[in-house]
Amino acid sequence: MDVFTNQPTTAPTPEPTNVNEDNLLPQRCEELWFEDGSVVIQAENTLFRVHSGVLAAQSEVFRDMFSLPPPADAETYDGCAFVRVSDSAEDMKHLLMVMIKCDFDNIVLNGSHGWEVLRLSSKYMVSHIRNHIISLLRVMLPMHMDDYHLVAKMDSVHFWFSPLRLRNTTLISAANIARETNALKILPIILLQCCKWLTLQEILDGEKICNKLLKLSPENQRAVLLGREKLSIDVMTRVYSVLELTPRISHACLDKDGCEAFRLVVMNRLYELGYTHKWINPFCDFDEAFFCSDEELCKVCKVYYQQLFENAQRKIWDKLPPYFDLPSWNNIHHQS
Ligand SMILES: [Zn+2]
Repeated sequence: MDVFTNQPTTAPTPEPTNVNEDNLLPQRCEELWFEDGSVVIQAENTLFRVHSGVLAAQSEVFRDMFSLPPPADAETYDGCAFVRVSDSAEDMKHLLMVMIKCDFDNIVLNGSHGWEVLRLSSKYMVSHIRNHIISLLRVMLPMHMDDYHLVAKMDSVHFWFSPLRLRNTTLISAANIARETNALKILPIILLQCCKWLTLQEILDGEKICNKLLKLSPENQRAVLLGREKLSIDVMTRVYSVLELTPRISHACLDKDGCEAFRLVVMNRLYELGYTHKWINPFCDFDEAFFCSDEELCKVCKVYYQQLFENAQRKIWDKLPPYFDLPSWNNIHHQS
């Protein structure tokens, strides 16, 4: 595991060669600097002085590292063990804040921090934090269709608190981190959101933010491209096709002419959508899919179609992960 840099051990606080380079000297993180700490961790240009026992109790990686006797020429810092890691200072700070101060408050799940903590807690094998972050993320990215519909409704109402609107760059990072950390309980829904929100160009070429290009990993790219096509075909042939079932309208219909006219209008619109769009949301709300400004279903037919529609959707949802070449929900449920 690529946990630490393989740089040769050097003095942790190299002498500056030029006074103008003072700002390049490692800086202490005051929030995570304990005078009685036993290990100093350097991430980028930031130093954290913490207690090795606290880290070892939570992280298998730190436990293994601290259980080995240090080599004779091991670096030290101010009498403490010294560890240099290859992670960003900000990400390491967030992980240590959670490990040492149980500070989940600054973990912004709809931003990037939650994802980075997921990545680092997986890398350092801090299983209780990894599991906690995944359980928080699952509220936004639920494994059950009814929960997904509830979150999607909230998404459309509260734009600024829109759990599923992990769009573009955040979505791309989320997909890559979930894949990298094998977080299968959330990966299928993230890939579904990629199908929904990313354009074909963004799927292929990524998205630039602050001059940094973020791209889906090749594995995620393939999963999204193949998954969106398979889902689009199945939503046409298995969900919207309920409009062609027999009986075409309920036996107890209260307005046979009106409901038949509605059925034809909606069916034509949906097929037109299917032929002109490369992606059709398989889990859109019934009212949204069956909206028709000119016609209306009678209340009996509405219940009839809603049940058919949602049952068909549920069959697709139940097989959602394999659309992205992932294990079934059942196998994912049993993943630790
Ligand atoms: Zn009717």
